[in-house]
Amino acid sequence: MEPELSDVDVDVDVVVLGLGVGGEEVAGRLAEAGLTVVGIERNLVGGECPYWGCIPSKMMIRAANAIAEARRIDGLGGSAQLRPDWAPVAKRIREEATDNWDDRAAVQRFIGKGGRLVRGSGRLDGPGRVRVGDQVFHARHGIVLGTGTKPSVPPIDGLANTPYWTNREAVEVEELPGSLLVLGGGAIGLELAQVFARFGVRVTVVEAADRVLAVEEPEASEAVAAALRADGVQIRTGVEAARVEHGSGGFTLHGAAGEEFTADRLLVATGRRAHLDELGLETIGVDAGRRYLSVDDRLHVTDGVWAVGDVTGEGAFTHVAMYQAAIVVADVLDHVRRASDGADPSGTASIVGGAAGVASSLAATGSSGSAGSVPRADYRALPRVTFTDPEVGAVGLTEQQARERGINVQVGFTKLSSSTRGWIHQTDDEGFIKLVADADQGVLVGATSAGPAGGEVLSGLVVAVHAAVPLAQLRHMIYAYPTFHRAISDALHNLTS
Ligand SMILES: Cc1cc2nc3c(=O)[nH]c(=O)nc-3n(C[C@H](O)[C@H](O)[C@H](O)COP(=O)(O)OP(=O)(O)OC[C@H]3O[C@@H](n4cnc5c(N)ncnc54)[C@H](O)[C@@H]3O)c2cc1C
Repeated sequence: MEPELSDVDVDVDVVVLGLGVGGEEVAGRLAEAGLTVVGIERNLVGGECPYWGCIPSKMMIRAANAIAEARRIDGLGGSAQLRPDWAPVAKRIREEATDNWDDRAAVQRFIGKGGRLVRGSGRLDGPGRVRVGDQVFHARHGIVLGTGTKPSVPPIDGLANTPYWTNREAVEVEELPGSLLVLGGGAIGLELAQVFARFGVRVTVVEAADRVLAVEEPEASEAVAAALRADGVQIRTGVEAARVEHGSGGFTLHGAAGEEFTADRLLVATGRRAHLDELGLETIGVDAGRRYLSVDDRLHVTDGVWAVGDVTGEGAFTHVAMYQAAIVVADVLDHVRRASDGADPSGTASIVGGAAGVASSLAATGSSGSAGSVPRADYRALPRVTFTDPEVGAVGLTEQQARERGINVQVGFTKLSSSTRGWIHQTDDEGFIKLVADADQGVLVGATSAGPAGGEVLSGLVVAVHAAVPLAQLRHMIYAYPTFHRAISDALHNLTS
């Protein structure tokens, strides 16, 4: 039976739960299109990326890389005396990146687009309903879930009650510890490990897998591990963390095979996890026992419910959240347009009136179209960058993934040091280009570019994978001399089965 409306019930067109990167984009654009949108956020509007993720971590990396670059001047152009100082980094993060972890500017941005912000923790409360405390929002057109992820903290004996760091404490730190244990050798753990090491912290990375950066090509793992070791980072792989102790002397991490590591601080960087159990999914008949929300290629979870960003498990990156947000916006507006055409099963007059206005404004901007014109999500050419030094950019499949899929694989590899630009660069030339081709289709299905500008070099490779540019065409392109990306041409000529 439908519950009765009370004075704390509010009717809106769309409810967006979680205003991180993905949710804020969807909510803002739908509000700009003329829909009534409530955005619910329990913490800071903008989410993890601007306050504890991409932006502050890349500010830290920018500073750490400047230190490393200054150290490279020996033999190239003189000498430099360095006195690394964390204070300007902490100040920049506080003042420039995060406004002292204050989201007033983001809130104004959202309200300026016509959105309504509700602070608090929301959960689904049956089809078309989201509850925040006593208040229930009824969504006429849809609900968008953009609730992101939290750090995944492994159930290691003794860990739970210690003052361990996650990315949040690492980003907020004002005074650096003398030593740091980093549990987890993935992108976030390695980026932060290198930063702190370059500022003089004694860093040890402990990883359960047999190599760091295990989701990328083994050559990338080797290059990054070598660079971190050169920065003084101890890397221990194949260690199963069994127990943690914390006392006045700091942290001790015990491995299952009797290993022991101690440090002033412990950073847990063992991945991220969506907390589906908090969302009330059972009230709309969706399984909350999964790791991520299962979505189709238009980000539908179920009728009238969409998801966006990390919570979908399609890639925990800001660019994925933004890419998906564009699809969700187009699809929600398409639903509204179809409702205004009379196809709305609910037949609610107020919806049709509002929808007609939105639909005509969309038609005027050329944003509307038939259901078939809403783009479908395609992750074949999903780029990912690990911002270590060397930077590791990657797209599509690794060699192993391509072989596991039964593709007739060809691999092309070249070291940057054998390219003219790598040779000129002289130091910091551990990079490489690795291409993975489908020999039968004559196209690239994956690529890795590691090096001083690995993430930038990646862009051409993303186009190649995304557009399935024929290998013959890639070979006959002109690559500027002497750039790092010119090494792509060498790798193409090295392709062999
Ligand atoms: C250290 C670090 C570095 C990173 N660096 C990069 C990078 O360089 N490049 C890149 O592309 N990505 C990077 N990322 C990943 C990026 O931050 C995420 O992919 C992005 O923030 C995902 O956006 P989202 O909208 O899905 O979720 P989030 O940004 O996590 O936002 C979700 C929001 O939902 C809110 N919320 C959750 N549940 C509820 C609820 N029940 N009620 C109300 N509100 C709720 C949360 O408070 C949060 O604000 C990094 C992440 C970390 C941790």
